[in-house]
Amino acid sequence: DMKKKLLIINTGGTMGMKPTERGFRPAQGFLETQMARMPELHDETMPEFVVKEYDPVLDSANFTPLDWQRMAGDIADHYQDFDAFLLLHGTDTMAYTASALPLMLEGVDKPVILTGSQLPLCLRRNDARENLITAMIIATEFPVPEVCVYFGSRLLRGCRTTKTSTSNFDAFDSPNEPPLGLVGTHIQVFARRIRQRPPADRTQKALAVRDIRPAKLATFRLFPGVTPDVLDNVLQTPLQGMVLESYGAGNGPSNDRAFLSTLRSAVERGVTIVNLSQCQHGGVSQNDYATGRALTDVGVISGGDMTVEAAITKMMFLFSQNLSVDQVKRQMAKNLVGELSEPLTTS
Ligand code: ASP
Repeated sequence: DMKKKLLIINTGGTMGMKPTERGFRPAQGFLETQMARMPELHDETMPEFVVKEYDPVLDSANFTPLDWQRMAGDIADHYQDFDAFLLLHGTDTMAYTASALPLMLEGVDKPVILTGSQLPLCLRRNDARENLITAMIIATEFPVPEVCVYFGSRLLRGCRTTKTSTSNFDAFDSPNEPPLGLVGTHIQVFARRIRQRPPADRTQKALAVRDIRPAKLATFRLFPGVTPDVLDNVLQTPLQGMVLESYGAGNGPSNDRAFLSTLRSAVERGVTIVNLSQCQHGGVSQNDYATGRALTDVGVISGGDMTVEAAITKMMFLFSQNLSVDQVKRQMAKNLVGELSEPLTTS
């Protein structure tokens, strides 16, 4: 028959959690018990689906890059047998997984959708039911051949997402990329916003998994009064890369010589320092102000309009590919999978 086949991978997260004395906790098999009670999932218009549950199911706060590797591997192992993939995932680190997977799933041309919920399926009030059902429908009825997050009322490009609310049902946003779809009484997916694969990888037939391994990375957020000795401590060996969360369009305290020389020495030691903005919207444009230009001068590179999640996972990915520091820096500035807007340079 013509039914689409969907693989649902339950990695854990609130959707399938149980209320306990210590708060919501993952429970093996619990989600499937709930799902079995939902006749709507077996409506004839719904796709054929298989649920593969991880053991143990985890709160996503416990995920590491090894879990991303496992997810990518499982998608690849089942790639030929299913039309689409749905990852049920906790919201806490969903944006990191959604940023890592597009880099790892080279040549992906089937929908890979991540969803989860703010309240578990077992509660009388929850957002889990709607997220689960709509994500199942989008994955199998809309041609979105990329890694996305469906959450609340929006379909978002995975590598552009960030969790913006601890409690709203619209918990995710992609501040520098318009939603790929909007959901209300109708499901709308905007075909023109779906990523066109570059001609080079359109010739690639099979999905290839590229590895990611943990790397020695840090994020460091500037604030007025930040002291260079603290920054210097973080930048010491074995640090490989740092995301520097600067002000506005990518500015820092350029009158502070110790601050600048701390950064310069780290760059000279081979640390990759990527400048991102503390602003939720927009990106770094390091040469707009002298205070940003000072960072360029000491060898800090611009992360453009990437999210912190995208920049961290991308650095980790690149450091896993046996590249030189220079190659890593060059790749950081390039749009690899839709995570970065190519610089809009005028004048
Ligand atoms: N702590 C939970 C998790 O990330 C939150 C959620 O799923 O919404 O697994």
